[in-house]
Amino acid sequence: MPAPPSDKPVYRFAPSPNGFLHLGHALSALLNHDMAAASGGRFLLRIEDIDLTRCTPQFEAAIYRDLAWLGLDWEEPVRRQSDHFDAYHAALDRLTEMDLVYPAFLTRGEVKAKVAANEASGKSWPRDPDGSPLYPDDDRHRSQTERRKLIADGVRHAFRLDMQKALDLIGAPLNWTETGDGDRGEIPADPSAWGDVVLSRSDAPSSYHLSVTVDDAAQGITHVVRGLDLFEATAVHRLLQELLGLPPPIYHHHRLILGADGRKLSKSEGSTGLAALRDQGLPAGDIRGRLGL
Ligand code: GLU
Repeated sequence: MPAPPSDKPVYRFAPSPNGFLHLGHALSALLNHDMAAASGGRFLLRIEDIDLTRCTPQFEAAIYRDLAWLGLDWEEPVRRQSDHFDAYHAALDRLTEMDLVYPAFLTRGEVKAKVAANEASGKSWPRDPDGSPLYPDDDRHRSQTERRKLIADGVRHAFRLDMQKALDLIGAPLNWTETGDGDRGEIPADPSAWGDVVLSRSDAPSSYHLSVTVDDAAQGITHVVRGLDLFEATAVHRLLQELLGLPPPIYHHHRLILGADGRKLSKSEGSTGLAALRDQGLPAGDIRGRLGL
C-alpha cells in the first residue's frame, strides 16, 4: 500500500545487516542525510534483512552504532524488512493474479551445470548486468499439471517474473529520472537485461527487487540515493512499480568508493570498515574528508 504523498522530500539509507558498514556505506548514508537536510526533507533508515541466513542482530546493532558515530540521526521506528514479509507476499500474490509469475524449480547447481554445458559446446549464455547467467526458460514452459505435480511432490521452488509477459502487459517503454554521478536525465530502463528475475525463494520469502520496490512506496520515498552498482537494477524496480501501480521516486546513483585494488569495497574489508577506522582512532569528523564531501 503506497504511503500518502508527502509534502516533504523523503530519503532513505537502506543497508543490509550482513556485514559491517564501510566507507562506501558512509558515503551513501551521509549523502542521503545531507540531501534530505538541504531540501528540508526527511531521512529514514531501513534495515534490509530479508536474507535470514546472512543477516544478524549483531550486524544490525553495528549499523546503529556506526551511523550514530557519523553523527547521523534518523526517524524512529526503523522499518525492518523481516517484519513485513506479509506486504511482499501480497505484492507477489498480485503479480500472480496478473498471471506474470511462475514456479521455478531449477537449483543454483542445475543452472550452473546447464550454462557450463552450453558454454562447453561453444555457445554463449546470456548474462545479466551483474554478470550472472539469465535463468533458463525450462520452467516457464511447464504445464500447470506438471507444476502442480512437482509442488505436490515437495520439490523446492522459487517464484520468478515472466519478464516478456510483464513487458508485453506494460506495452510502453519505461524510463526513470536520474540526478546522480553517472548518466543523468531521463534514463531508458531495460528490465529485459535481467531475464526472469526472482521474486521469492524457498529460503528467503522475498527478493531484493520486490521488497525494495514495495518498501520505497510504503515509506513514501521520493528520492532514492544509492551506489552506481545499483544503477541497472533500477530498470527492474521501475517495471515492478509500473505493474503494481506504485509511484516512481527520483533516483540518484552516486560514485562508488574503491579499495586499494581498484575494486568495489566488500563488507569483509577490515581496513575501510567504519568500526575498524573508529578503533584505529580516526575521528568521525575526518570521514567526510576521506570521502571527498
Ligand atoms: N540493501 C541494499 C544494499 O545494502 C541497498 C538497497 C538500495 O539502496 O536500494 O546494498
